[in-house]
Amino acid sequence: MTQHYDTIILGAGPGGMTAATYASRANLSVLMIDRGIYGGQMNNTAEVENYPGFSSVLGPDLAEKMYQSSTQFGAEYAFGTVLHVQAQEDGSWRVVTDMDEYTTNTVIVATGSDYKKLAVPGEDQYSGRGVSYCAVCDGAFFRGQHVIVVGGGDSAVEEATYLAGLADKVTVFHRRDKLRAQQILQERAFANEKIEFVWNTEVEEILGDDKKVTGVRVHNNVTDEVYTVDAAGVFIYVGVLPVSDVVADLGITNDQGWIKTNERMETSLPGIYALGDVREKELRQITTAVGDAAIAGQNVFSYNENFKLQQQKKIAEA
Ligand code: FAD
Ligand code: NAP
Repeated sequence: MTQHYDTIILGAGPGGMTAATYASRANLSVLMIDRGIYGGQMNNTAEVENYPGFSSVLGPDLAEKMYQSSTQFGAEYAFGTVLHVQAQEDGSWRVVTDMDEYTTNTVIVATGSDYKKLAVPGEDQYSGRGVSYCAVCDGAFFRGQHVIVVGGGDSAVEEATYLAGLADKVTVFHRRDKLRAQQILQERAFANEKIEFVWNTEVEEILGDDKKVTGVRVHNNVTDEVYTVDAAGVFIYVGVLPVSDVVADLGITNDQGWIKTNERMETSLPGIYALGDVREKELRQITTAVGDAAIAGQNVFSYNENFKLQQQKKIAEA
């Protein structure tokens, strides 16, 4: 028999796990589904320094602590890739994964964001052979070598500093002459002797031999100079994209795929909520994901109360 829940949360990153805490603490039956290990992007983050209560905490450790809180009131966790969310005649929803099918009164979409590709020749060819999107996962392979970081946001600058602890030299190529990253991250990177910033410069191609990356060809967009730089690794941090494919057919996203919600985290469809990185919003952080989640958890509770009352009424009338 298909299992039914008051709410099903798609994704167990910081947002999904916090929504599970709130909803299950309000006595709802809750299922979180994730296609990987719980924790989301926190698993790819070395140190988190801007989460309240911790001067510094390792991303995976914070993920573990959040998981413990999210399951303490009975929320369940299931492994699986969510494929579809379908409306049912009685106003509830069907959630289909590659492992199972469930029904639910409410769905919370907390599927987060994923890295954007640079879209240059060589990127796909050398992915996993010198091209990486995760310094925490792959940085150790480049101990004592020269690596390149592409981008100028929080991720690029923070991860360049992390890589400088392993690599011999880190060169950051940024397409402008100003970073987008938070000031404290910039100052730390500028003070690090192993990190060199190269401004107004775009990576045009990732070069390699038949096995792995050997360097990059870059273009200075002010001087028009084109040259090559030798390196063993290229870490790409040029922004993020929404992971909203599972709800793409529901009409709740904007033209870039971010899910539109109001301040209650409600989408335009009754019973479907969204939170965290996948939402159309200004600032994508752990704190903002968990803030969204508290609101969603609370509102999912109110929705369920009404939904159940309506269902009881319908049964009484029938
Ligand atoms: P995510 O963490 O992205 O979690 C989404 C989850 O959904 C994932 O576990 C994924 O597997 C799952 N999922 C997606 N699609 C499906 C599907 N179809 N089926 C099943 N499961 C699915 N923020 C900070 O505040 N401080 C930091 O120091 C910091 N450092 C960062 C460093 C890096 C390199 C990056 C990339 C981001 C960093 N961030 C940091 C941002 C922060 O990690 C995100 O804002 C936060 O993780 C968003 O949480 P979320 O729960 O919305 O989504
Ligand atoms: P981001 O903030 O969108 O920055 C992307 C960077 O890549 C920008 O500097 C951008 O240049 C550059 N870029 C984009 N497309 C490019 C292209 N085609 N070629 C070359 N450069 C390109 O993305 P992010 O740094 O991955 O951060 C994502 C989210 O996670 C943000 O909300 C961020 O705050 C959060 N985060 C937080 C922390 C933290 O709090 N410690 C750490 C990491 C990430 P321009 O500047 O010219 O646009």
